[in-house]
Formats: sequence, C-alpha cells, structure tokens
Amino acid sequence: MKDLTALSLSQIITMLSSKQISSLELTNAYLQQIERFEPSIQAFITTTPELARQQAKKADDLRVRISRDDQLSPLLGVPFAIKDALALQDIRCTSGSKILENFIPQYTATTVQRLLDAGMVVLGKTNMDEFAMGSSTENSAFFTTYNPWDLQRVPGGSSGGSAAAVAAHMAPLALGSDTGGSVRQPASFCGITGLKPTYGRCSRFGLIAYGSSLDTVGVFGHSARDVSLIFQQMAGHDPLDSTSIAVPLPAYNDNNPTDLKGKRIGVPREYFIEGMQPAVEQAVRAAIDLMRSLGASIHEISLPHTAFALPVYYIIAPAEASANLARFDGIRYGYSADQKHLLDVYKESRGAGFGQEVKRRIMLGTYALSAGYYDAYYGQAQKVRTLIKRDFDQAFENLDVIATPVAPTTAFRIGEHNNDPLAMYLGDIFTLPTNLAGLPGLSLPVGFDGDHLPVGLQLLAAPLQEQQLFQIANAYQMASDWHLQSPQITT
Ligand code: GLN
Repeated sequence: MKDLTALSLSQIITMLSSKQISSLELTNAYLQQIERFEPSIQAFITTTPELARQQAKKADDLRVRISRDDQLSPLLGVPFAIKDALALQDIRCTSGSKILENFIPQYTATTVQRLLDAGMVVLGKTNMDEFAMGSSTENSAFFTTYNPWDLQRVPGGSSGGSAAAVAAHMAPLALGSDTGGSVRQPASFCGITGLKPTYGRCSRFGLIAYGSSLDTVGVFGHSARDVSLIFQQMAGHDPLDSTSIAVPLPAYNDNNPTDLKGKRIGVPREYFIEGMQPAVEQAVRAAIDLMRSLGASIHEISLPHTAFALPVYYIIAPAEASANLARFDGIRYGYSADQKHLLDVYKESRGAGFGQEVKRRIMLGTYALSAGYYDAYYGQAQKVRTLIKRDFDQAFENLDVIATPVAPTTAFRIGEHNNDPLAMYLGDIFTLPTNLAGLPGLSLPVGFDGDHLPVGLQLLAAPLQEQQLFQIANAYQMASDWHLQSPQITT
C-alpha cells in the first residue's frame, strides 16, 4: 500500500469512510513517521502516542457501530498536531516557556475541543517560540526546530513546530496561532499551506494569550482544501470568547470554481520592497501570472500606510503582552522560585522563568504603557492602526483578494539573526498589517529559490471572507503542483 502519511486529507477521508484503512493504522503510520524524523526535526515538545492510539481505536469502534456515514463527521479518526500554546486538558502545555514547563491545564481550548468533538486524534504538542514571540522557534525555551527542507535552517515561527511537523508528514494537519504572521510565515518557510482566520472567527478560549487584540488560531495543511475542511470544523462563535463573532459560516467547499473568471486580485506596490530576495519576488509574480491566465484580473494598488505597520505592531503587541504575562507570578502557574519573601518569589520566578526575548517585550510594552508615554506610544499606535485598516477597507471595495509575498526572504539559517532582534522583526513586515486590520490571510507555496527552499504567496481578504482565499488558492493549486512537493529529509 501507498505510504499513508503521503495522503491528502481528502484521500484520508475517503479511505477512512470506505474502511480501506482504519484510524489506528493511519495513526500508527504517523507515529512511526514521528519516530523516524523527530530526531532530525524536533517539531514536538510533547508527543501523545498512547492518547492517539486510544482516540483512534475509539474512532474505529464508532465507525463500526454507526453504519450510516451521514451521522459521522468526515474528520472522524483523522490525526493532527497542536501548537503548544493551545490547551488540551491533562496534557502539559508550555507555550514554549520554562515558566510553564510543568503546567497541566484543566481545560481544553475551544478550537481543539471542536476537532476532538469531530473524533480527531491528537499526535502531540508542537514546539514554538516562547509565548509565540519570534519568527524562527529559536526562542523556544527547550530547543530549536529544524526546517525539513534544510536542517541548517529555521522552520519559521512562532508556530514552527506545527509547520515542520506537517512539512515532514509527521502530521497531516496542525493547529497554530498567528498574532503577526506565526502561521503564514512558517507555512511559507516549510512549503505548506497555512490559514490565519479573521480576528474573532475562531475562539481564542484556551489559547495562551500574547497580544489579545491580534491573536488568532490558525491551521496548517498540504492544501487550501485540507485547511478549509479543518477551519470549518473549528470556526464559529464561542460564548467563552467575547470577541468571537456570531455570524454563521458559509458552505466553504460547495461549487468551488476551477478557474478564476471574474476574480479581482490586487497587488500592492508597497509589498515589493528593495532588499527583498529576488527569487521570492519572481516566484510570487509567476504565481500571480498563473492566476491571471486562469481568468483573474490583476490590479496594481497602493496601501500607503504599510510602512507604519512594523513600529505600530511592535508597540501594540508588546504592550498587550506585558499585561497578559503579568499573571505568571510564580504563585498561580508553573515555575515557582523557592524564596521566603513574596516579592522575591515574583522576581526570581519571572527572572528565571522567562527568556530573553520575552523579557525584552515585557520591558518594551511596560514602557509604552507607562504614565506619561501612553499617549505618545500606545495611543498613537492605535490611531495609525486605524489608518492601516482603512487602507484595506478601501482596497476591498473593488477587490476580492490581495496577493503579496509572505516574507521578504526564504528560510534563514539557524543563528543568523541571533544578535539582531530588529532584523528578525523586519522579516514580519508583510504579515503584521493583516493582524492589525483583523483580516483573514492564507499562505501557499508557489515555488523555490536557488537553494531549493520554498517560497510562499500570501492572499488576504476582507473580514469573514475566508472563502475567497480558499477558492482562489484552490484554483491555483488545481493548476499547479508546488503544494505536492515534499522535502527529502536526511536522518
Ligand atoms: N514574529 C512576530 C512576533 O514575534 C509574530 C509572532 C506571532 O504571530 N505570534 O511577534
């Protein structure tokens, strides 16, 4: 039989429902793949083989007991991995931080719960930059994850473990979170498809908070179609998250066109900047040309406030993070320093529990929010944020999607940006504006650079218009095969 870990989600669904394979066989195939490649890739902080086999058996039993397929979720028995920022009851959840090294949550994130309700199978919790702050997984308190396409390079971040796990076929799908690009950029670096939904489309309940006005839960897979099937299951209003949106979901996979006739795609000139890697621009432009040949009309546009997104994000995100991380005091969660005096418990726990980048963000954020500076920094940043959002609102009056590169470069070398946080921040330049505006975005592979590293294209849509992203990406993927390429991993 064909290698089960090479199947697409649609093929998995067909083979499970026709009982050609069992969930246990499929799950075992992925667990074996993890055993084989995990020593080279290091995508997981925690693997859950026993839980996975137990859930798989349960799914298989259910399929035998309920003979009518229409009473079963199509996702029954499908394995997936979870970024370690999302809580799963009774399983350690670290958020990549030493301060949560031994934290066992008593609850499950809503997005995860909805996939469990469909009968999906958990393979493990994936590595990430500490508290999702970073673009490479090098800020994980535990270890760095390696890019399956080149083990000398980062997989991107902060959801790098999830992206690497999917790229290496150690999981067919994985959840991530995206506050400023943390799903789209690692998807791009690892040559897979990643979705950042509209802010509020998927519940944040059970996602360890970074920047609450920017955080979203997203998903990685091998195609837009695979991603849309999971998104449909995890999206929707949740009373446990007051910012989640109470708008019903459309039917995402009905009548998906194979051409792009009538679709209007905007290409913002501010997203093709000096200093970006030429191979990235070439691959992105070639993808846009293919979309044109499929019938789309291409329009050059301007989003004039783009250049402000980086400074605005790096005020708002650390400000919100500094407030969110105040709860980690050595008393209520995780690591607690052995000290006699309360203030020393706080100081020592936080001093030893947080890594360098997290401390940098807490200091930046605390400064931006402090009396006397609040208006000059946080207040001002919020105003500019509105201008950035307005650029997009105006653009979407005449467009279905906007197409851009995901990042100015392909995956960089491990250690390359170690002593230069600003260089690391600059890599987020094309993904941050989306979060500031709350829009949905999708990253899909569109080619390789000269070192055979994947290049990603980013599609953006108006709020709640995820189906535009799926339709356009799907038509592109029907006409190309970049998303079907897999790395040769040396073990
Ligand atoms: N790289 C960005 C940051 O460090 C975005 C991270 C994210 O989306 N979680 O903040």
